[in-house]
Amino acid sequence: MKVHEVASILEGFAPLSFQEDYDNSGLLIGEPNHEVTGILLTIDVTPEVIAEAVELGANMIVAHHPLIFKGLKRLTGSGLVERSVMLAIRHNIAVYASHTNTDSVEGGVSFRMGHKLGLTDMRVLKPLSGNLVKLVTFVPEAYAEVVREAIFAAGAGVIGNYDSCSYNIQGFGTFRGGEGTNPFVGEKGKLHVEPEIRLETIVPRHILNRVVAAMIKAHPYEEVAYDVYPLELPYTKAGLGVVGNLPEPIPSIPFIELVKQTFSSPCVKYSNPTKENIQRVAICGGTGISLLPQALASSADVFVTADVKYHQFFDADSRITILDIGHFESEQFTIDIFYDLLSKKISNFAVLKSKVKTNPINYI
Ligand SMILES: [Zn+2]
Repeated sequence: MKVHEVASILEGFAPLSFQEDYDNSGLLIGEPNHEVTGILLTIDVTPEVIAEAVELGANMIVAHHPLIFKGLKRLTGSGLVERSVMLAIRHNIAVYASHTNTDSVEGGVSFRMGHKLGLTDMRVLKPLSGNLVKLVTFVPEAYAEVVREAIFAAGAGVIGNYDSCSYNIQGFGTFRGGEGTNPFVGEKGKLHVEPEIRLETIVPRHILNRVVAAMIKAHPYEEVAYDVYPLELPYTKAGLGVVGNLPEPIPSIPFIELVKQTFSSPCVKYSNPTKENIQRVAICGGTGISLLPQALASSADVFVTADVKYHQFFDADSRITILDIGHFESEQFTIDIFYDLLSKKISNFAVLKSKVKTNPINYI
């Protein structure tokens, strides 16, 4: 299996288009056509992790945090990032990162945290924007059904728990085939009027190419006329953070203790408990306090996240309890997401979890 094939498995789960604007997920170091001998999974890429990969014979590292985040202007070995990049190149190790796209995908970082806490009825806290488009095409009436079925089979037309959603209007299309054409109906060089269906449906942008390919394949016309309109609607199947419910309410302090234990957090910082019992829980792995408005709007009793600053704890304002469980602690199970995904699809070489403790923060 080649590097680009491993990347395809990862991106089939967490599309790169789901990443935030500031992010740098994807293949960062290495050649896509290089043969993979083993994969090492980690949260961060450090020289120690690269040394571990070399020792294990793994020539691809899959990390949560991108090793190269900002532009690198020189590689002189000054600083951890430069040293790590140089070491990876020297040892022919490919480095791939799946960061905010794995945060945003259903089943990603925050979902995994929610599962660890036993949450049910989880939904995305801040749905992705700009990921839905309206696809419109014009089909001869007799072919409308076959084209509809093809685009639905490719994933179009899903709204909430409904599938096969479309709108169809009868009308007529006009066209005249020029030199080199072979019209499906009508005659070359003559204006033709054909009864057609204007077929419109909704498509997530990350599968648009697949849907358009299926549409063109099923459509009888030589030149398929279609439009793609961007939509302002939120895409509720993906986005940052989750909110869900505990099966039973738990008093505040025992809940905080449960979180501390679940994430092996040596220190949980929390704002004043506001509710006697906790049942509705909002979560965002990593630095997630910017999602506090969404956590409040979701009627959550608590918001579990990391990297909360002193003044941001005041923003809880007796409306919610903010828990800061530590950045690494909150994201540690991301390695399991990668492992579950890759080990199921790869059998001819090892997929290994790094044993290096990359958390740069110590507690005393
Ligand atoms: Zn992070």
